[in-house]
Amino acid sequence: YTPDGPVAKRIASVTPYFPFKGIPKFYDIGGFLKDPEAFALVVEVLVERYRNEDITSICGLDARGFVLGPPLALALKKPFFMLRKKGKMPNVVTGEAYAKEYAGNDALSIPRGAVSAGDKVLVIDDLVATGGTLLAAIELIKKFDGKIVECACVVELKFLDARGAFDKKGHGDVPIWA
Ligand code: 5GP
Repeated sequence: YTPDGPVAKRIASVTPYFPFKGIPKFYDIGGFLKDPEAFALVVEVLVERYRNEDITSICGLDARGFVLGPPLALALKKPFFMLRKKGKMPNVVTGEAYAKEYAGNDALSIPRGAVSAGDKVLVIDDLVATGGTLLAAIELIKKFDGKIVECACVVELKFLDARGAFDKKGHGDVPIWA
């Protein structure tokens, strides 16, 4: 998927200047959720990529990772768990606050027992921008000695260089696939 490429409109809808003027293009997976054929294709591409991978569980990030993760988890017959924004779930461990491209700071929480030492976790979200959200997820999973197989997203805003941010934070070993 390439933002502004020929299939872009079918996959993601683009709203200019949301949530404020500094964000010229806000991408949203609403573009394919309303198109069952395109939605099925996105899930199929993900299923094909991970069908033969050694994965223990699939982790969806708040909130759009909750839309993409479950169909993939069902197809691959793997457990699914959610990393939610702080304060939404009981019996969790909350990570460090992280900065986003916009909308200030946030923190993610992981359910206790979701990850055990040696687990191989696939992380899924709709979009990677600065990589701050994925890094928060990576740190929570590694805290419990889980390994991240890959971070899968539909859209990557390459100019924000999430891969560079992974390197700087010492997580350059974790691949992003978008
Ligand atoms: P990051 O932490 O990588 O800066 O931002 C990614 C998070 O912001 C993801 O959880 C994603 O769902 C959300 N997000 C959704 N659409 C957009 C968008 O168009 N731009 C940005 N920056 N973030 C978005």
